[in-house]
Amino acid sequence: MPLKFISTYRRASFLDPFNNFQPTTREVEIRRDPLTGDITRILAFRLRDLGTIDHSLFLARSQERPCPFCPENLEQMGARFLPADLPSGRLTRGPATVVPNAFPYESMNVVLVLTKEHYLRPGQFTPEILANGLALAQESFKKLASGMGFGSVNSNYMMPAGAGLVHPHFQLAAGEKPTVFQASLRAKAQAHARRGGDLAADYVRAEQANKVRLIGKLGPAVWLAPFAPRAVFEVMALMPEGQGLMDLKAPALAKLAQGLSRVLAYFEDKGVGAYNLALHTPLRPGTGLPFMLRLASRVQIPPMGIDEINYFEKLHDEIISFLPPESLAEELRARWK
Ligand SMILES: [Zn+2]
Repeated sequence: MPLKFISTYRRASFLDPFNNFQPTTREVEIRRDPLTGDITRILAFRLRDLGTIDHSLFLARSQERPCPFCPENLEQMGARFLPADLPSGRLTRGPATVVPNAFPYESMNVVLVLTKEHYLRPGQFTPEILANGLALAQESFKKLASGMGFGSVNSNYMMPAGAGLVHPHFQLAAGEKPTVFQASLRAKAQAHARRGGDLAADYVRAEQANKVRLIGKLGPAVWLAPFAPRAVFEVMALMPEGQGLMDLKAPALAKLAQGLSRVLAYFEDKGVGAYNLALHTPLRPGTGLPFMLRLASRVQIPPMGIDEINYFEKLHDEIISFLPPESLAEELRARWK
Protein backbone atom coordinates (compact mmCIF):
# COMPACT_ATOMS: atom_id res chain seq x y z
CA MET A 1 0.00 0.00 0.00
CA PRO A 2 1.76 3.21 -1.14
CA LEU A 3 1.84 6.24 1.17
CA LYS A 4 1.71 9.85 0.07
CA PHE A 5 4.71 12.05 0.88
CA ILE A 6 3.27 15.45 -0.02
CA SER A 7 5.37 18.58 -0.49
CA THR A 8 4.05 21.99 -1.56
CA TYR A 9 6.05 25.17 -2.02
CA ARG A 10 5.47 28.84 -1.23
CA ARG A 11 7.54 31.65 -2.66
CA ALA A 12 8.17 35.16 -1.39
CA SER A 13 10.02 37.92 -3.28
CA PHE A 14 11.72 41.06 -1.98
CA LEU A 15 14.63 43.43 -2.59
CA ASP A 16 17.55 41.82 -0.79
CA PRO A 17 19.64 44.14 1.45
CA PHE A 18 22.38 41.46 1.55
CA ASN A 19 22.67 41.59 -2.25
CA ASN A 20 22.59 45.28 -3.17
CA PHE A 21 18.76 45.32 -3.05
CA GLN A 22 18.46 43.07 -6.09
CA PRO A 23 15.08 41.28 -6.47
CA THR A 24 15.32 37.90 -4.73
CA THR A 25 12.88 35.00 -4.41
CA ARG A 26 13.00 32.59 -1.48
CA GLU A 27 11.15 29.31 -1.38
CA VAL A 28 9.86 27.32 1.57
CA GLU A 29 8.88 23.66 1.33
CA ILE A 30 5.81 22.56 3.29
CA ARG A 31 5.58 18.84 4.03
CA ARG A 32 2.75 16.67 5.36
CA ASP A 33 3.92 13.52 7.10
CA PRO A 34 2.09 10.34 6.06
CA LEU A 35 2.66 8.73 9.49
CA THR A 36 1.69 11.55 11.82
CA GLY A 37 -0.11 14.09 9.66
CA ASP A 38 2.39 16.68 10.97
CA ILE A 39 2.96 19.77 8.83
CA THR A 40 6.55 21.02 8.74
CA ARG A 41 8.06 23.94 6.85
CA ILE A 42 11.66 23.28 5.92
CA LEU A 43 13.81 26.40 5.86
CA ALA A 44 17.18 25.20 4.74
CA PHE A 45 19.13 28.43 5.06
CA ARG A 46 19.34 29.40 8.72
CA LEU A 47 20.95 26.68 10.85
CA ARG A 48 24.27 27.59 12.44
CA ASP A 49 26.83 25.42 14.15
CA LEU A 50 25.55 24.89 17.69
CA GLY A 51 29.01 24.75 19.27
CA THR A 52 29.91 22.34 22.06
CA ILE A 53 27.50 21.29 24.80
CA ASP A 54 27.80 23.25 28.05
CA HIS A 55 25.75 21.96 30.98
CA SER A 56 27.85 23.65 33.68
CA LEU A 57 25.00 25.93 34.79
CA PHE A 58 22.57 23.01 35.27
CA LEU A 59 25.23 20.93 37.01
CA ALA A 60 26.07 23.77 39.41
CA ARG A 61 22.38 24.28 40.25
CA SER A 62 21.92 20.52 40.72
CA GLN A 63 24.63 20.55 43.39
CA GLU A 64 22.84 23.17 45.51
CA ARG A 65 20.46 20.53 46.89
CA PRO A 66 20.59 16.75 47.36
CA CYS A 67 19.78 14.75 44.23
CA PRO A 68 17.00 12.25 45.02
CA PHE A 69 18.29 9.83 42.34
CA CYS A 70 21.91 9.62 43.53
CA PRO A 71 22.64 6.27 45.23
CA GLU A 72 23.19 7.80 48.70
CA ASN A 73 19.75 9.50 48.61
CA LEU A 74 17.50 7.23 46.57
CA GLU A 75 16.68 4.92 49.49
CA GLN A 76 15.36 7.79 51.64
CA MET A 77 14.15 10.27 48.99
CA GLY A 78 12.64 7.99 46.34
CA ALA A 79 8.95 7.05 46.53
CA ARG A 80 7.95 3.41 47.10
CA PHE A 81 5.18 1.34 45.55
CA LEU A 82 2.18 0.32 47.65
CA PRO A 83 2.72 -3.22 49.02
CA ALA A 84 -0.43 -4.30 47.16
CA ASP A 85 1.06 -3.09 43.84
CA LEU A 86 4.62 -4.31 44.38
CA PRO A 87 5.64 -6.01 47.64
CA SER A 88 9.34 -5.27 47.07
CA GLY A 89 8.57 -1.51 47.01
CA ARG A 90 10.94 -0.91 44.10
CA LEU A 91 12.34 -2.67 41.05
CA THR A 92 16.05 -2.84 40.34
CA ARG A 93 18.20 -4.23 37.54
CA GLY A 94 21.95 -3.65 37.41
CA PRO A 95 22.55 0.04 38.15
CA ALA A 96 18.91 0.99 37.36
CA THR A 97 16.02 1.46 39.81
CA VAL A 98 12.30 2.06 39.27
CA VAL A 99 10.29 4.17 41.73
CA PRO A 100 6.79 5.69 41.47
CA ASN A 101 6.65 9.17 39.96
CA ALA A 102 5.89 11.51 42.88
CA PHE A 103 4.24 13.88 40.36
CA PRO A 104 2.17 11.40 38.31
CA TYR A 105 0.26 12.28 35.16
CA GLU A 106 -1.04 8.78 34.29
CA SER A 107 -2.45 5.78 36.19
CA MET A 108 0.82 3.94 35.67
CA ASN A 109 3.65 6.45 35.77
CA VAL A 110 7.07 5.60 37.15
CA VAL A 111 10.60 6.97 37.11
CA LEU A 112 13.40 4.72 35.93
CA VAL A 113 16.75 5.94 37.27
CA LEU A 114 19.25 4.66 34.71
CA THR A 115 22.62 5.03 36.40
CA LYS A 116 24.44 5.54 39.68
CA GLU A 117 26.30 8.43 37.97
CA HIS A 118 24.71 11.83 38.60
CA TYR A 119 25.43 13.14 35.12
CA LEU A 120 26.11 11.74 31.66
CA ARG A 121 26.74 13.65 28.46
CA PRO A 122 24.60 12.35 25.55
CA GLY A 123 27.60 10.43 24.18
CA GLN A 124 28.10 8.65 27.52
CA PHE A 125 24.82 6.70 27.34
CA THR A 126 26.35 3.36 26.39
CA PRO A 127 24.36 0.54 24.75
CA GLU A 128 24.75 -1.39 28.04
CA ILE A 129 23.17 1.37 30.16
CA LEU A 130 20.31 1.80 27.67
CA ALA A 131 19.69 -1.94 27.14
CA ASN A 132 19.57 -2.47 30.90
CA GLY A 133 17.11 0.43 31.21
CA LEU A 134 14.88 -0.89 28.41
CA ALA A 135 14.87 -4.38 29.95
CA LEU A 136 13.81 -2.87 33.28
CA ALA A 137 11.12 -0.87 31.44
CA GLN A 138 9.75 -4.16 30.05
CA GLU A 139 9.69 -5.66 33.54
CA SER A 140 7.99 -2.55 34.94
CA PHE A 141 5.21 -2.68 32.33
CA LYS A 142 4.78 -6.41 33.01
CA LYS A 143 4.46 -5.93 36.78
CA LEU A 144 2.79 -2.54 37.06
CA ALA A 145 0.68 -2.02 33.92
CA SER A 146 -1.41 -5.16 33.69
CA GLY A 147 -4.54 -4.69 31.59
CA MET A 148 -3.20 -1.49 30.01
CA GLY A 149 -2.71 -1.39 26.26
CA PHE A 150 -0.66 1.73 25.57
CA GLY A 151 2.79 2.36 26.94
CA SER A 152 5.61 4.83 26.53
CA VAL A 153 9.19 5.24 27.66
CA ASN A 154 10.01 8.92 27.77
CA SER A 155 12.81 11.27 28.63
CA ASN A 156 13.38 14.99 28.97
CA TYR A 157 17.15 15.38 28.76
CA MET A 158 18.27 18.57 30.49
CA MET A 159 16.35 21.64 31.58
CA PRO A 160 15.73 23.26 28.15
CA ALA A 161 13.85 20.04 27.30
CA GLY A 162 11.76 20.16 30.49
CA ALA A 163 13.85 17.95 32.78
CA GLY A 164 13.52 18.57 36.52
CA LEU A 165 16.72 16.73 37.42
CA VAL A 166 20.12 16.26 35.82
CA HIS A 167 20.45 12.62 36.95
CA PRO A 168 19.87 10.26 33.94
CA HIS A 169 16.35 8.84 34.03
CA PHE A 170 13.41 7.71 31.93
CA GLN A 171 9.75 8.21 32.70
CA LEU A 172 7.44 5.32 31.94
CA ALA A 173 3.73 5.79 31.41
CA ALA A 174 0.93 3.37 30.60
CA GLY A 175 -2.79 3.77 30.25
CA GLU A 176 -5.94 2.01 29.19
CA LYS A 177 -6.39 4.84 26.70
CA PRO A 178 -3.77 6.13 24.27
CA THR A 179 -2.44 9.70 24.46
CA VAL A 180 -3.59 12.13 21.74
CA PHE A 181 -0.49 11.39 19.63
CA GLN A 182 -0.86 7.64 20.10
CA ALA A 183 -4.59 7.78 19.28
CA SER A 184 -3.91 9.67 16.06
CA LEU A 185 -1.10 7.31 15.04
CA ARG A 186 -3.28 4.31 15.87
CA ALA A 187 -6.21 5.72 13.85
CA LYS A 188 -3.94 6.18 10.83
CA ALA A 189 -2.54 2.66 11.24
CA GLN A 190 -6.03 1.18 11.57
CA ALA A 191 -7.33 3.07 8.50
CA HIS A 192 -4.31 1.83 6.56
CA ALA A 193 -4.91 -1.73 7.78
CA ARG A 194 -8.51 -1.57 6.51
CA ARG A 195 -7.04 -0.89 3.06
CA GLY A 196 -4.87 -3.97 3.49
CA GLY A 197 -1.54 -2.38 4.49
CA ASP A 198 0.77 -2.17 7.49
CA LEU A 199 1.49 1.52 8.09
CA ALA A 200 4.96 1.15 9.65
CA ALA A 201 6.03 -1.51 7.14
CA ASP A 202 4.80 0.52 4.16
CA TYR A 203 6.48 3.68 5.46
CA VAL A 204 9.74 1.79 5.94
CA ARG A 205 9.43 0.22 2.47
CA ALA A 206 8.94 3.64 0.84
CA GLU A 207 11.93 5.08 2.68
CA GLN A 208 14.11 2.06 1.92
CA ALA A 209 13.30 2.57 -1.76
CA ASN A 210 14.12 6.29 -1.96
CA LYS A 211 16.97 6.01 0.59
CA VAL A 212 17.35 9.75 1.27
CA ARG A 213 15.97 9.70 4.82
CA LEU A 214 16.96 6.12 5.66
CA ILE A 215 19.64 5.76 8.34
CA GLY A 216 19.78 1.98 8.64
CA LYS A 217 18.42 -1.19 10.19
CA LEU A 218 19.54 -2.61 13.54
CA GLY A 219 17.80 -5.74 14.78
CA PRO A 220 14.03 -5.43 14.33
CA ALA A 221 14.04 -1.60 14.12
CA VAL A 222 14.60 0.64 11.12
CA TRP A 223 16.04 4.09 11.89
CA LEU A 224 14.99 7.08 9.80
CA ALA A 225 14.80 10.85 9.71
CA PRO A 226 11.06 11.72 9.64
CA PHE A 227 9.78 13.25 6.37
CA ALA A 228 8.17 16.12 8.32
CA PRO A 229 10.25 16.43 11.49
CA ARG A 230 9.03 17.95 14.76
CA ALA A 231 12.46 19.32 15.60
CA VAL A 232 15.62 20.60 13.95
CA PHE A 233 17.34 17.31 14.81
CA GLU A 234 14.84 14.46 14.89
CA VAL A 235 15.38 10.73 14.53
CA MET A 236 12.82 7.94 14.53
CA ALA A 237 12.84 4.16 14.80
CA LEU A 238 9.97 1.99 13.57
CA MET A 239 9.16 -1.69 13.91
CA PRO A 240 6.67 -3.11 11.43
CA GLU A 241 3.89 -5.70 11.81
CA GLY A 242 2.60 -4.81 15.25
CA GLN A 243 5.80 -5.65 17.15
CA GLY A 244 6.26 -3.80 20.41
CA LEU A 245 8.78 -3.33 23.19
CA MET A 246 7.30 -6.30 25.06
CA ASP A 247 8.10 -8.66 22.15
CA LEU A 248 11.82 -7.93 22.20
CA LYS A 249 14.22 -10.54 23.59
CA ALA A 250 17.63 -9.55 24.97
CA PRO A 251 19.53 -9.51 21.61
CA ALA A 252 16.87 -7.30 19.97
CA LEU A 253 16.81 -4.98 22.99
CA ALA A 254 20.59 -4.70 22.75
CA LYS A 255 20.28 -3.65 19.08
CA LEU A 256 17.65 -1.04 19.90
CA ALA A 257 19.90 0.33 22.66
CA GLN A 258 22.82 0.38 20.24
CA GLY A 259 20.83 2.51 17.78
CA LEU A 260 19.80 4.89 20.54
CA SER A 261 23.38 5.18 21.74
CA ARG A 262 24.60 6.00 18.22
CA VAL A 263 22.00 8.76 17.84
CA LEU A 264 22.96 10.26 21.20
CA ALA A 265 26.67 10.23 20.28
CA TYR A 266 25.72 12.05 17.06
CA PHE A 267 23.66 14.57 19.08
CA GLU A 268 26.69 15.29 21.26
CA ASP A 269 28.92 15.82 18.21
CA LYS A 270 26.37 18.26 16.75
CA GLY A 271 26.06 20.21 20.03
CA VAL A 272 22.52 18.98 20.76
CA GLY A 273 22.58 19.27 24.56
CA ALA A 274 18.84 18.85 25.19
CA TYR A 275 16.25 16.55 23.69
CA ASN A 276 12.93 14.83 24.27
CA LEU A 277 12.52 11.10 23.76
CA ALA A 278 9.34 9.06 23.44
CA LEU A 279 9.09 5.37 22.68
CA HIS A 280 5.46 4.52 21.94
CA THR A 281 4.59 0.87 22.26
CA PRO A 282 1.62 -1.43 22.39
CA LEU A 283 1.65 -3.42 25.66
CA ARG A 284 -0.43 -6.29 24.31
CA PRO A 285 -1.33 -7.65 20.86
CA GLY A 286 -4.26 -6.14 18.99
CA THR A 287 -4.14 -2.53 20.22
CA GLY A 288 -3.46 -1.26 16.68
CA LEU A 289 -0.70 1.08 17.89
CA PRO A 290 2.56 0.72 15.95
CA PHE A 291 5.89 0.89 17.77
CA MET A 292 7.54 4.27 17.24
CA LEU A 293 10.57 5.76 18.95
CA ARG A 294 11.39 9.43 18.43
CA LEU A 295 14.20 11.67 19.65
CA ALA A 296 13.68 15.39 19.10
CA SER A 297 16.22 18.11 19.77
CA ARG A 298 15.44 21.11 21.99
CA VAL A 299 18.23 23.42 20.98
CA GLN A 300 18.93 27.12 21.23
CA ILE A 301 20.42 28.55 18.09
CA PRO A 302 23.51 30.75 18.49
CA PRO A 303 24.60 33.47 18.75
CA MET A 304 21.39 34.74 20.46
CA GLY A 305 20.34 31.39 21.93
CA ILE A 306 17.04 31.33 20.02
CA ASP A 307 14.78 28.50 21.11
CA GLU A 308 13.87 26.17 18.26
CA ILE A 309 10.22 26.25 19.40
CA ASN A 310 8.39 29.47 18.53
CA TYR A 311 4.82 30.73 18.05
CA PHE A 312 4.44 28.71 14.91
CA GLU A 313 4.68 25.38 16.68
CA LYS A 314 3.23 26.48 20.02
CA LEU A 315 0.16 28.29 18.65
CA HIS A 316 -0.27 27.35 14.98
CA ASP A 317 0.36 23.57 15.32
CA GLU A 318 2.90 23.65 12.50
CA ILE A 319 6.62 23.17 12.76
CA ILE A 320 9.50 25.10 11.26
CA SER A 321 12.78 23.25 10.87
CA PHE A 322 16.10 24.69 9.76
CA LEU A 323 17.69 21.41 8.71
CA PRO A 324 16.42 19.14 5.91
CA PRO A 325 15.98 15.64 7.39
CA GLU A 326 17.84 14.32 4.33
CA SER A 327 21.04 16.09 5.53
CA LEU A 328 20.68 14.62 9.02
CA ALA A 329 20.07 11.12 7.61
CA GLU A 330 23.15 11.37 5.42
CA GLU A 331 25.35 12.23 8.42
CA LEU A 332 23.89 9.53 10.65
CA ARG A 333 24.01 6.88 7.91
CA ALA A 334 27.81 7.06 8.08
CA ARG A 335 27.58 5.85 11.72
CA TRP A 336 25.45 2.85 10.78
CA LYS A 337 28.16 1.13 8.75
ZN1 LIG B 1 22.06 12.41 41.11
